[in-house]
Amino acid sequence: MIDLRSDTVTLPTPEMREAIARAELGDDVYGEDPSVNRLEAMAASTMGKDAAMLVPSGTMGNLAAMLTHCARGTKAIVGSQSHTNLYEAGGASALGGIVLTAIANTEDGELDADELAHELGMPVDEHFAQPSLVVIENTHNRCGGAPIKLSHMAEVSDAAHRRKIRLHLDGARIFNAALALETTPREIASGADTVSFCLSKGLGCPVGSILCGSGEFIAGARRTRKVLGGGMRQAGIIAAAGIVALTTMVDRLAEDHQNARALAQGFALVAGLNVRPVKNRTNMVVFDVDGDADASRRFAAAMQQRGVLISPRAATSFRAVTHHGISRADVDRAVAAAAQAAGEVFGD
Ligand SMILES: *Cc1c(COP(=O)(O)O)cnc(C)c1O
Repeated sequence: MIDLRSDTVTLPTPEMREAIARAELGDDVYGEDPSVNRLEAMAASTMGKDAAMLVPSGTMGNLAAMLTHCARGTKAIVGSQSHTNLYEAGGASALGGIVLTAIANTEDGELDADELAHELGMPVDEHFAQPSLVVIENTHNRCGGAPIKLSHMAEVSDAAHRRKIRLHLDGARIFNAALALETTPREIASGADTVSFCLSKGLGCPVGSILCGSGEFIAGARRTRKVLGGGMRQAGIIAAAGIVALTTMVDRLAEDHQNARALAQGFALVAGLNVRPVKNRTNMVVFDVDGDADASRRFAAAMQQRGVLISPRAATSFRAVTHHGISRADVDRAVAAAAQAAGEVFGD
């Protein structure tokens, strides 16, 4: 199967399996797992923050960040298309009494400046829930994997900090963003108080995400993680793969970006498929198909019959994601499969 549904389907590399087998372990709830400590130190320095904490998932990283930053009844301002708003099961509200306040995302995944200013300018008045955090996502998953440019990151950071409100960066794919923007994760995260990123997506780890911030913040976040049941014992099993990811899997993301460009170019030539243009493509291709929801389902089924999996995004749109498990030859096969499937479903 050529699995283009998500970069979360990546399997650990042989080097990761080796490192997992050999990992030095200890009890991480006691702070005694040398592999976890090493990964956390590497991650903190990569992101330019003082401290870092391993968590089981990106969802827990964002949740621990929001629960640590925000008092009950205060607002976390998030993009309407953000992962935090759409795909984290309302955790911040359910568990933290946080008012998740969605403002518009532009097509490029930026936060709408006027709506942000409006929310941040909420008068200090007993009627109004007060903002306590802004969350920004980079790259922006739902907005086609767009990297958010540094100037926008700085504008949002300035706007929040002027009001003494903190900024959390959901950097699940921050290494893809850094590559596309020709900069470093540290630079992208520089205006954010905290940043989370995933080891388990393009970086290929089986499990794990990291939350970074100040020493004081991470100390608080460790308590939050414990509350969430995310304190893990010999977590060096997970961290060992993370160390391999940070040392061997970052530079190769360029290959995924090239493959996504090739996939977009190939799909663009297929009658019946309409690839959404992006200014700066990372590892995703979003496309719409001609016809109705039923035709769209038949197209996905025809792709699957030919060994290609894609992810439905809405009634007539799909997402295809390139990753470590996808070669250039797989891209060519996927394009050929799309041409046949589209001919079958949309041709006359
Ligand atoms: C995948 C993802 C997450 C959450 O990661 P999980 O490990 O799946 O919980 C958070 N934010 C964004 C933008 C993501 O793409």
